[in-house]
Amino acid sequence: MSDALKILVVAGHPADMFDHCGGTLLHHIEQGDSVVCVSITQGLRIHDEVVYDLFRHDIDKYSKEEIDEILKQRQKVKYGEALSACALFGITDVRFLDYDDEILTLTPEMISRLAKIIREVQPDLVITHWPYQYDMFSNHHAVTGQLTLSAITAANGVSFRDRNPACRIAQVAFMLCPHDVAASVLNTSGKTAYASYYVDVTDVVDKKVKALHMMKSQKYDIEGYAKKTTEQWNGSFGVRVRFSYAEGFAFEYPEVGKTLPVSDHRKWLARADERELLERCSGLQGTCVELDE
Ligand SMILES: [Zn+2]
Repeated sequence: MSDALKILVVAGHPADMFDHCGGTLLHHIEQGDSVVCVSITQGLRIHDEVVYDLFRHDIDKYSKEEIDEILKQRQKVKYGEALSACALFGITDVRFLDYDDEILTLTPEMISRLAKIIREVQPDLVITHWPYQYDMFSNHHAVTGQLTLSAITAANGVSFRDRNPACRIAQVAFMLCPHDVAASVLNTSGKTAYASYYVDVTDVVDKKVKALHMMKSQKYDIEGYAKKTTEQWNGSFGVRVRFSYAEGFAFEYPEVGKTLPVSDHRKWLARADERELLERCSGLQGTCVELDE
């Protein structure tokens, strides 16, 4: 049996595929693992410069045909940017399920569609959003996490409409963002994630900044934005475990073994002096990345 992992990433919006876990995916691809990314929604309504800003106040000035044409064009632009950004991390198998992000709620059709992909890809590891992210009932990330868990359950059983075999997942990792580890609304109080695994992405932080900056359709090319977000997100996760930049995860299933794991980094944390600890997490590489206009 091959040791290479098959990884499936299920994201709520196109940019989530790389901004939540792109550095980790790049490390996996470099070691020979395969990655398939799926975006559940088009992500057009919440971030898109034209759709969001133009239609918000002036929608009555456009005919249905004009609106449809603009939406088609904007989807093409966004998907093109996401594909280019994913390519920076070596991710080439990217799929868009094209759901409108007006209302995202679990339906049997969506679950079946994602279960079909799971049966086709046969992943060892599925990466998705924390299913309790703030306002977990209507938040696209949270719904995507819930959808993924439901699809994993469905894919575990045989479907008589799908020729691919049933699939049992080895592990699910939740790709966390700062919102997930601190309750910001009452309904997620007590449901915050505990980041129990951190991936050091300091070596590829330039790609994270560049990839974010490439999402011009959603204004991420505003001066300073990509760098600020990376500092605030990956920088803050990094400082927790004394890396300059990290991606944080929580595992769904407990890991098992014959002994207990203690990483080399934890041993280093235990013996480093105070100056070394601070130096290790003080890098500002993300703020120095050269970006095209
Ligand atoms: Zn998102």
